[in-house]
Amino acid sequence: MIYENPDKVKIGLEIHVQLNKANTKMFCGCTTDYTESGPNECVCPGCLALPGVPPVLNQSSIDFAIRIGLALNAKINKETDFYLKNYFYPDLGSGYQTTQFDKPIVYDGYVLIDGEDGLEHKVRIRRAHMEDDPAKLVHFGTIDKSTGSAADFNRSGMPLVEIVTEPDMRSPKEVRRFLDKLRSILEYLDVVDSTREGSIKADVNVSVQNKTRVEVKNISSHRAAEKAAQFEIMRQKDAYRKGKEVVQETRHFDEVRNVTVSLRAKETEDDYRYFPAFDLVSYKITDKKIQKIKDRLPELPDAKRERFVKQYDLSEALAKSLTTEKEFADFFENAARKTDPKMAASWADIIRGELNYRDLSVKAIKTEELIRIVELVSENKINDVGGVLIVRTLLDEGGTADQIVKAKNLGIAEDDETKKAAVEAVSENPEAVSDYLNGTEKAINFIVGKVMQKTKGKADAKTAREMVIEAIDEKYNGN
Ligand SMILES: [Zn+2]
Repeated sequence: MIYENPDKVKIGLEIHVQLNKANTKMFCGCTTDYTESGPNECVCPGCLALPGVPPVLNQSSIDFAIRIGLALNAKINKETDFYLKNYFYPDLGSGYQTTQFDKPIVYDGYVLIDGEDGLEHKVRIRRAHMEDDPAKLVHFGTIDKSTGSAADFNRSGMPLVEIVTEPDMRSPKEVRRFLDKLRSILEYLDVVDSTREGSIKADVNVSVQNKTRVEVKNISSHRAAEKAAQFEIMRQKDAYRKGKEVVQETRHFDEVRNVTVSLRAKETEDDYRYFPAFDLVSYKITDKKIQKIKDRLPELPDAKRERFVKQYDLSEALAKSLTTEKEFADFFENAARKTDPKMAASWADIIRGELNYRDLSVKAIKTEELIRIVELVSENKINDVGGVLIVRTLLDEGGTADQIVKAKNLGIAEDDETKKAAVEAVSENPEAVSDYLNGTEKAINFIVGKVMQKTKGKADAKTAREMVIEAIDEKYNGN
């Protein structure tokens, strides 16, 4: 099935990635880790933009940008240079942002996502360039009704990579999937700690029916990007239906009301008066350097997923779920090496669901516990219900799988206990029994359910079923 895209929705993204795993800011020696510091504590004359301090380009931000480029299947410019983008804003001490213009470090790549049609869909990457972050304004109150603002320069000079896609996304869902995939890749690369506030931000460009493109700026969550695109598509379609024009402008997404509001008319590049960064010579990147970085790239999500499918004989969907986060993939694989990989995969997936539900990271549970649960189930010491209970208790109360089995008495019911429950369930439910005897096979499930209730979920389902049939035979056929 080919996705028709009836409204000709075209969505492109500009994603600002803060390289907060780099050791220093982009052009000075200040730390990138200011999360525990008070306002304006991690600054120097350079990133405060005091006059007369020349910038010194930090090598690790260049290396990070190349890593990102290679992971996005893109080309690396052998000669790249910096420009000054001039504009006035109170968070920009120098009056310009150091960025790139016609020779971005990365160009011409792509990312694969699951498309609307269920097929693999290619989102092209036009370019990715480096720039530095401005300081941060803290507004008192909301952005449109603020009574005042303060500037914190800890963020000033943080290295950024801005990734620009072609308008290849055809729905809000594809936007969400693209952002999820990109975050996954960036985390595998270990260039960004995405849990830090504002580390990944997106501008969403939306047009419908091949008409005016509207930009929604500075969206910090994937869910909000999806919602903003949804609202824009609706707003633009509605305008055209009423015979109105859509203005080319920059809008802001209000996450409380789920609407976009007009901020300002869209600037063109001419408005910024780009000129070459006079203190920075153009930067040459050798093939040898690129090759060296390529050799050190980690296995990325797509490759890992494919390998899991082949090596552990998993379904695509399961392998994908296990590989979205690198740390989780390692959690599974460490267990898979020591126990039955298919069982480890399905238990890891159950654990993933329970972690997500509690908003916990995989750090909350040890690989040894996953291995132990697989062992307990495969040795028939607990059943699946017991396994899930162990996972939940581990996450909610701590302890080890073995302690929980003991404390909660989760061991599989002895045959005697199951037998007793089966006999009781058969005498207590004569209607279900007669349905079964009259040929309604399914009625047996009802009685097995009663056995599970009586044994508090500890009976082995297969044994319970056998014993129910046995009990019926004994009672009604006198065998
Ligand atoms: Zn500094």
